[in-house]
Amino acid sequence: MIIDFHAHPGYSENLNALRAEFRPALRAAKHHGVDWICLSSLADWKESPAPAQVRKGNDAVLALAADHPEEVIGFCYVNPRQTDEALAEIERCVVQRRMAGIKLWQACAANDARVEAIAKRAAELKVPILQHAWYKTGGNGANESTPANVAALAAKHPETIIVMAHLTGAGERGLADVAPYPNVSVDISGGEPEAGMVELAVRRLGARRVLFGTDSPIRSYGATVGKVMGARLTVRQRNLILGENARRLLAGRLGA
Ligand SMILES: [Zn+2]
Repeated sequence: MIIDFHAHPGYSENLNALRAEFRPALRAAKHHGVDWICLSSLADWKESPAPAQVRKGNDAVLALAADHPEEVIGFCYVNPRQTDEALAEIERCVVQRRMAGIKLWQACAANDARVEAIAKRAAELKVPILQHAWYKTGGNGANESTPANVAALAAKHPETIIVMAHLTGAGERGLADVAPYPNVSVDISGGEPEAGMVELAVRRLGARRVLFGTDSPIRSYGATVGKVMGARLTVRQRNLILGENARRLLAGRLGA
């Protein structure tokens, strides 16, 4: 089984345009043997979207999951700057509509106090948080998480399951930051394939803490599946990374 733990529906703001945009991505996923796509909105790709934009983005993901119930699983995007609205949105999307994870992008860094209530709720609901993180050569955005910020969140909330996005953005330094925290895994998205990077993540974290994720439509299915298929891994390690780890973290919510 192959599960793409990290994908977005597209760039369109209108639902029907988004549906049209998502269709070829889904076709590409199927063509590369991907069984499930974990889809999250980024609410019109704004750093700190208003609550209505957040709900609209999540509604689009719910619609796409309803369109493709055997292929798409929704993650709930929230903006931690609006803590009450974020918790209400988790209630609406995760508790009532069975979304399977929570997506955090760059409204707040992972170590921001406003993320704490969300981390606690995720632990109670036993759903993973997919947290954007990067070490950018030119410097991160003002509220953009580094892997060290993710490590700080993980240390404070050992019961919260965190998947740090973007192995290629974290690099060796980012892997060292999160390695001590077994509640943190990493997805392999971010950047073009780099020889040895997936193997390095397996050495530093173990194969059970590395997950396949494309960040589609930013990266293609071919390039990202190639990151795993081109890595020197055992069959067991490859199966864990491609799908078994994600299936474990998503517990009973696949196909629910
Ligand atoms: Zn992403």
